[in-house]
Amino acid sequence: MKKISNRKIFIQTMGCQMNVYDSEQIFRQMSLSGYEPTDSIDEADIIICNTCSIREKAEQKAFSFLGRLAALKAVNPGLIIAMGGCVAQQEGYGVLRRLPHVDLVFGTHAISRLPDLVSSIKRRRCRLVDVEQAESIGPDDFLAKPGGNSEVTAFVTIMRGCDNYCSYCVVPYVRGRESSRHPDEVIQEIEKLVSQGVREVTLLGQNVNSYGKKEGLSSFSELLEKINKINGLERIRFTTSHPKDLSDELMKAFTRLEKLCNHIHLPVQSGSDRVLKRMNRRYTREAYLKKIEALRTLRPDVAITSDIIVGFPGESDEDFQQTLSLVHEVGFDGLFAFMYSDRPNAPAARYREKVAEQEKKRRLQQLLSVQSQYTLDSNRALEGSVKPILVEGTGKDKENRQSGRGLIWKGRTTCNKIVHFKTPDMQKDDNQILTGRVMDIMINRALPHCLWGEPVHMPSKVVKGAVCHAS
Ligand code: SF4
Repeated sequence: MKKISNRKIFIQTMGCQMNVYDSEQIFRQMSLSGYEPTDSIDEADIIICNTCSIREKAEQKAFSFLGRLAALKAVNPGLIIAMGGCVAQQEGYGVLRRLPHVDLVFGTHAISRLPDLVSSIKRRRCRLVDVEQAESIGPDDFLAKPGGNSEVTAFVTIMRGCDNYCSYCVVPYVRGRESSRHPDEVIQEIEKLVSQGVREVTLLGQNVNSYGKKEGLSSFSELLEKINKINGLERIRFTTSHPKDLSDELMKAFTRLEKLCNHIHLPVQSGSDRVLKRMNRRYTREAYLKKIEALRTLRPDVAITSDIIVGFPGESDEDFQQTLSLVHEVGFDGLFAFMYSDRPNAPAARYREKVAEQEKKRRLQQLLSVQSQYTLDSNRALEGSVKPILVEGTGKDKENRQSGRGLIWKGRTTCNKIVHFKTPDMQKDDNQILTGRVMDIMINRALPHCLWGEPVHMPSKVVKGAVCHAS
C-alpha cells in the first residue's frame, strides 16, 4: 500500500468517557508534531491502544488488540506500537515483557510527554516506559480543541484522579490522587470550544462534586455558575458524582442554572448497607435514597441514572434482593450494571467469599430485566410531549440508506435521551443544516434505548442547500 505521509496515527480507545477525552488529548499532543489521524491500522505509523482497567474485560480486550499487532510489526518494523491509559499505568514494564513488539508504555499522566517519547524511540530505536505521576495538573496537560471541527458537544476534564479508594476500584492507583484544574483554565477552554461551534459541554472528573476542595478553588457549584454565564453555550452536563459528596448547594444548582441539564448520573453500586460498607462507599442506602428524594423535590423532572455492581465478594442473595428493591424504589431512568471482577491492587481482590461466575451472570440478567421496564417506562412518559432537542448530526449512513427518502437526525433531550427524527425533504448534501440547532420535537414513539419524533416546525432560517448554525 502506498503511503502519503509517515505521520499517521491510529488510536484505539477502550473503556470510559474519561478515556475518550484522553484519546482526544493524545491526538492533540501528537498533532503538534504533525501527526494526522487515520482509521486504518495498515496506514498508521503509530498505533496507540488507550486502555481502561476498570473492568477485567476491557483489559483483556486491550491485550488481545495489541497481541494481534505483532504480525503487522513483523512486516513493518518501523511501526511504533504504544499502550497508554490505566492498564499501562498499572502494568508498566510488565507490558514490554508480555508483548515484545510493543515499543512504548505510557501512563495516565504522561500524555503531554508523548511527542518527546515518540521522537526518542525514533531516534534511539529503543523501547520506553513512562508511568510517572504528578501531584498536580500542569499547564500543558490539557490542550484545547483545535478549530475546524463541526462537533456540537465536547468533553472538558475539570479534574483528574480520585481520593476515595472504593475497595473494588483501581482509579486512585492508576490515575493518581485527586487534583483540579484552575477554573480560569476550564472557562477559557469552554469559551474556545463555543467559538468553534460547540453548544454543549460535559464536565468530566471521577468525582466532580469534590472539585476544587483540595486546592481551595471554587466549589463545583460555583464553577457551574461561571460556566452557565458563557454566551453561546446551550447546555452543561457533568459526570461522575459520588453520592456522599452530592451537596445541597449542587442540588439547588439544578433549579438555578438554566443551562444545567436535568440529568444526573449518581452511581449507587449496591442497595445493601453491608455491601456498601465493604465497598468503602461511605454512604448508606437510606442516605442515598434521601438524596434522590431531595433532588426530585427540587427538580421533579430530573432524570437519574446509576451504576450497579453485582456479585461483589460476599454479596449474599439477601444483599442482592436489597439492590433489586432499591432499583424498584428509585425507578432509575437508566442503569449501567456490571459483574464484579477482581482488579489488581484493589483491596477487594483479596476479599474471600467470591460469588460464582454463574451466579453473577444470573443476578446481572435479573437486574437488567427489572431495569429494562423502568427505562422503557421513563421513555414512554415522554410520548406526546414536545422537547427541545440539541441536534448532534445525522444518523449513521446505513440508517439513512435504509430509510429511503430524506435524512434521519440524532439529538438529545436535556435529560439525555437520544431522539431521532426524519426530514423527508432533505438529502445527503443537507447533512449539516440542522446540526447544532435546538429544535422542538414532538416525541411520538418510545423504544427501549431511544425516542422517535418529528419537528414541530422547521427553523425559519433553514434554507435548503444552505449551511446555517444559528438556532
Ligand atoms: S469514587 Fe470510587 S469508584 Fe469512583 S473513581 Fe474513585 S475510587 Fe473509583
